[in-house]
Amino acid sequence: MSYLTHLECGLCRQSYDADTLQALCPDCSRPLLARYDLDAARRELDRDVISTRPDDLWRYREFLPIRDPRFALNLGEGFTPLHHATRLGKELDFADLFIKDEGNNPTGSFKARGLGVAVSRAFELGVTSVSVPSAGNAACAMCAYAAFAGIEAHAYMPTDVPPPFIAECQALGATVTLVDGVITDCGKAAVADAEKYGRFDLSTLKEPYRLEGKKTMGYEVAEQMGWTLPDVMIYPTGGGTGLVGMWKAFDELEHMGWIGSKRPRMVTVQSSGCAPMVKAFEGGEEFAEFWHDAATVADGLRVPAAVGDFLILRALRESSGTAVSVSDEEMIDAANTIGRTQGFFVAPESGATLAAFNHLRKSGWIDDGESVVLFSTGNGAKYAHLWRDDQ
Ligand SMILES: *Cc1c(COP(=O)(O)O)cnc(C)c1O
Repeated sequence: MSYLTHLECGLCRQSYDADTLQALCPDCSRPLLARYDLDAARRELDRDVISTRPDDLWRYREFLPIRDPRFALNLGEGFTPLHHATRLGKELDFADLFIKDEGNNPTGSFKARGLGVAVSRAFELGVTSVSVPSAGNAACAMCAYAAFAGIEAHAYMPTDVPPPFIAECQALGATVTLVDGVITDCGKAAVADAEKYGRFDLSTLKEPYRLEGKKTMGYEVAEQMGWTLPDVMIYPTGGGTGLVGMWKAFDELEHMGWIGSKRPRMVTVQSSGCAPMVKAFEGGEEFAEFWHDAATVADGLRVPAAVGDFLILRALRESSGTAVSVSDEEMIDAANTIGRTQGFFVAPESGATLAAFNHLRKSGWIDDGESVVLFSTGNGAKYAHLWRDDQ
């Protein structure tokens, strides 16, 4: 079923066994990436077969790490609609604008892809208790899959996380710990407790398989566009799993001959209140500095430090992409524009992609006639407090 062969460090390239539990590279503490026998896949698998399968991310199961299908926890994640946003495009006088509606996933965000696959693989490797530090959506997703697997779940979120995220985790049977601080502080608490109580921690890129789940967005966009890719992709970046995952997906797809060598220009958008990747990109740095006093209403973007920073920056540069920051106000305005024209209520992170698009159109970085995909990473419902007029 799976063509998984081994794990490889994203920085030092050392190889590791994929069939035991692994976290970061034991040598350099950087993320491990899953590798597959793509030559075998190229010989044995036809991309047209994929298109006859059910509409969820398990249609790409050969390129996911689960060996025994009984451990693939399926709540219907993935294969979300790719809308040709013609009403929005008309308003902006831009023809080929697309929105990948990730708010359609279980628990309302694309975190379901990463955590669905990561919890499945941990479950397969015998884990009975998992934890995650989260700004909100990752916790909800992890708790859902842990519940479905029948394993214990511990979510660590900042004290100021909006109440719906806490309620959802609790309703999914998990234990919630609130931490005074931001997601990196939650990460410290989660890791300390995981060591103390023998849990497996699922922090972004600190285990290899959330990335694998998120990379399926790259497979999907390619398949949904008839095995071609757009000119530009705009991605709201926190830990960067999705961006790095899609960049990896394109290499895998090209290796199998399912797409050509054309790549989209990848764009990171962050909030001006927390923009470590934008700063590092503009400064020509390989790694990003910690962002002090991170503040934004887009909880998923309140990530002051990312362990995969060098992978994000590498993907942006290799793709001739860019990084932009937008204000929280612009995000909410843009979310309203998406809602009013396309009919779905999106999270501020999703609004950020349209705000970045507007900047890049104004500066001429995106040309007339190009095709652009915006990643609407979450549903707006859990952020409804931002729309209350007494706020
Ligand atoms: C987590 C999250 C992000 C950021 O995703 P990364 O892959 O960590 O960069 C963006 N939007 C929403 C809604 C999120 O929950």
